[in-house]
This record gives sequence, C-alpha cells and structure tokens, in this order.
Amino acid sequence: MHYIVMDLEWNNTYAKRIKGFINEVIEVGAVMLDENFNYVGEFSRMVRSQIGKKLRGNVKRLTHITNDEVRNGEPFTKVMSDFKNWIGDRENVILTWGDGDIRVLIENFRYLNGLQVLPFLTNYLDIQHYFQVKKEIPKAKQIGLFAAAELVDIDPELFAHHRALDDSMVTAECLKKVFDKKDFFKHVVKCDDAFYQKLQYKPHAIGNINHPLVDKSLLSFTCEKCGSSGEQLTDWRYSNQFFRANFHCPVCNYDARVAVRFKKYFDRLETKKNVSIISNEKVKK
Ligand SMILES: [Zn+2]
Repeated sequence: MHYIVMDLEWNNTYAKRIKGFINEVIEVGAVMLDENFNYVGEFSRMVRSQIGKKLRGNVKRLTHITNDEVRNGEPFTKVMSDFKNWIGDRENVILTWGDGDIRVLIENFRYLNGLQVLPFLTNYLDIQHYFQVKKEIPKAKQIGLFAAAELVDIDPELFAHHRALDDSMVTAECLKKVFDKKDFFKHVVKCDDAFYQKLQYKPHAIGNINHPLVDKSLLSFTCEKCGSSGEQLTDWRYSNQFFRANFHCPVCNYDARVAVRFKKYFDRLETKKNVSIISNEKVKK
C-alpha cells in the first residue's frame, strides 16, 4: 500500500467552450509514502496553460509562479500520463487537503481530456476531513493546511509556501501526525460512480412544499412557554431557502415567526427550524 499525497496549484480562468470559469491546473506536486510512511518518491511538474493565457495576480502573489514558468510547462495530458506511470500498479490511496484539488482535477480531465473519471484514482481520502475528525475540529470550521501543521508542531517555515510539492510534503507530515490504523481506512472511499456523483452533487434547499421529503409535521408551532400549538396567522410561503409562516399563541398572547428549511445533500436531508418572537411594537393590528 502506497500513500500518494497530492497538491495542485491552479489559475481561475474563463473557458469559452463552457461559457464559464474553470480552475486550470498549472502545477502538480505529490509525494509517495510506503506503509511505514517513508518517502519513496516525489513528483513535481509545471503544466502549460491551454485555457487561460495569463496568471491572475493573486495566483502569482501566492505561489510566485511566473507566466514564463507556465508557458514552459508540459501539456496537461502529458503530465497526467506521467503521473499515472509514476504512481504505478501498487495498491494506493490518494490524499488531498480538502476535496477542492480532486474536484479541480476531475473538471480539468473532463474539459481537456474528455475523460469522465481519473484513470489512476481508486481509493481516496480527504485528509483535511480526517485531520478534523482526529483533532475534534467541527466541520463548519475548515482548517487551513498551515494552521493544521502548526497545531501538530510542524514548522511550516521548513517548506516553501503554496507550491505544489512543498504543500504535498506539509500535508504528508500532517497525515503522519494524525494517522491511526484503527479508523483511517474507514475514512478511505472507493472511487466508484457514487463517489463522482457525490462530489458533483450541489446541496440545495427544497422549495416545493409538496415534495415527499418535506416533513409536514415540522411545519408547525408549539409555544415554548405554555405548550399550546397556537393559531397560524399566515400561509406557508417559501423565501430564501426557508418555508415561513407567522403564528399566535392565544394563551401567552404573542406572535412568532416560524422558518423551516429542508436541505438536501447527496446522502442525507438536513432540517433546520427557527422560531423568533415578533416584538409587540412591530405587530400591526
Ligand atoms: Zn403560549
């Protein structure tokens, strides 16, 4: 089993064919580690840009990559074919910090190679996700690579910032610090059709009140003070992701706004309900 820790640099650019913006890969860096986390190889290539002509200012500032370097790079197809050969036939897990790089790579393969799946990708782990699980950092707070490195006493100054190979090394060092054979492989995912569908799935709020996933029992109000179910003052209407209606508690004599959101993710539904009391001054009788 080899661990392939990969990092990409990309340039956001307009792509005529899809009439939209795309993150074009300009550098690929990766390190290979064996079962015992010994470094057994590294990969570092510049990719000649085919979609964008010039690097954005923020990319140049962050990475210190120059337009000349990108012009002197190799075509994306050649770099990725070399990458596949470099990885070889041994069973592996590909790891990236966050799933952004893997999304970008899939997008580039589709746009530039016409391939729907990555030919070298069989097992994948988002190491940022695993790191946050092990360090008990909440999902909502996405920790950056360098903040994570400092948290586990890796001096990021030892590595040049924001170049693909260095970032992949910092990521590999973070992996070593949190790796736990008891649960690591439970977080590794098989890259089957569902994997690609899940990556591309756009979570969205359900706006149709008759949708089968809308649990009507949540479209209700119970007064926190007296337990009464109150009177509904307005019909449910949908705006800004939430179904909204106003209620009145006749026992406690106040009005409340109720807002309920049903958010569909690839493999789960998340519901959120907010109740806020309408202050008396605002109530117009
Ligand atoms: Zn009440």
